[in-house]
Amino acid sequence: MSALGITPSVRSRLPEVGTTIFSVMSTLAQRHGAVNLGQGFPDFGCDPRLLDAVNQAMRQGHNQYAPMAGVRALREGISEKITSLYGHHYDPEHEITVTAGATQAILTVVMAVVQPGDEVILLDPCFDSYAPNVALAGGVAVHVPLASGSFAPDFDRIAQALSPRTRLIVVNTPHNPSGTVWSATDMQRLTELLRSTQVLVIGDEVYEHMVYDGVQHQSIARWPELAARSFVVSSFGKTYHVTGWKVGYVAAPAALTAEFRKVHQFNVFAVNTPVQHGLANYLRDPQPHLELSAFYQRKRDLFVEGLHGTRLRPLPSAGTYFQCADFSAISDEDDRTFCERLTREIGVAAIPMSAFYPQPVQQGLIRFCFAKEEATLSLALERLRLL
Ligand code: GLN
Repeated sequence: MSALGITPSVRSRLPEVGTTIFSVMSTLAQRHGAVNLGQGFPDFGCDPRLLDAVNQAMRQGHNQYAPMAGVRALREGISEKITSLYGHHYDPEHEITVTAGATQAILTVVMAVVQPGDEVILLDPCFDSYAPNVALAGGVAVHVPLASGSFAPDFDRIAQALSPRTRLIVVNTPHNPSGTVWSATDMQRLTELLRSTQVLVIGDEVYEHMVYDGVQHQSIARWPELAARSFVVSSFGKTYHVTGWKVGYVAAPAALTAEFRKVHQFNVFAVNTPVQHGLANYLRDPQPHLELSAFYQRKRDLFVEGLHGTRLRPLPSAGTYFQCADFSAISDEDDRTFCERLTREIGVAAIPMSAFYPQPVQQGLIRFCFAKEEATLSLALERLRLL
């Protein structure tokens, strides 16, 4: 016992969980002066018009609490955008809630609908917050692998995983980390599979505006029967190059939104007011999100072409700002050891694929983020050629 008395011990709510891989690799990249292609964020600025819009909102005095569900003008803008893109109308008053980013939105959905013992189907590999979210709610994560190689949903296995206890399935398209994009057929099959069940859906669609080679994003909002049982989540950080602002939203039918808000109000209460006003103004122009796929496709193409000049083998990527690569021709190290060595010795940081699985699965795969200036990508490629 110290002079200050004892420090009470805590029984961890998340005993298996360490620090998220994104923080670990960003810290390592910084320490070694590596080009950081690990954590997903752009290294370029956002549109100055967006900065002006937020600045103006602050100067106009929009600096007190926003309404709990979000600034009305922003919810209206989101509703109009979803209608024009996906043909589904969400009532801004009762069906759209602005959140402090998509990660908060997803945890809040899980806390709102998952009861202790309920099962939640997660499709592996998946974003590293999903399983801890389920654990915090006292739920049971049921891990179903995506098809090996293609990372497409395997509906036979999903069907086998469904049980009377299944409460929720998390669908992420475009998919982090693989870049796979669900097809219309996939959505149709999901609709049919869930038709006679009580299963709810989270649609994590934060990369909705990054789809390549003419592929169309199949938002759950396009599928009325699915939309009726779903929380559709998206993020302004990803679309407008402002990941640090942490603003996203959830669109869901009124009854689901009511439950969502019961938790949201006692978690964040309300989200940053001037940023919401700024986004509401900026959102009126559809050009920035309509141009985003072409903008990122150029970066993907440049990066993939560059990877062909290395001993890494790029995998197909139809969406997101991630590109996976196979390093098995270079090393038989486990992917985390390989990523750490890559950061230290070659000066490029990436994310090991095993971080997206409940138990590390070794496939010789790593994930790069190509949301970077061309000069950054070129420098990384120059270094990767040394491998
Ligand atoms: N979504 C980002 C990624 O996958 C990271 C988000 C985070 O760091 N929490 O890299």
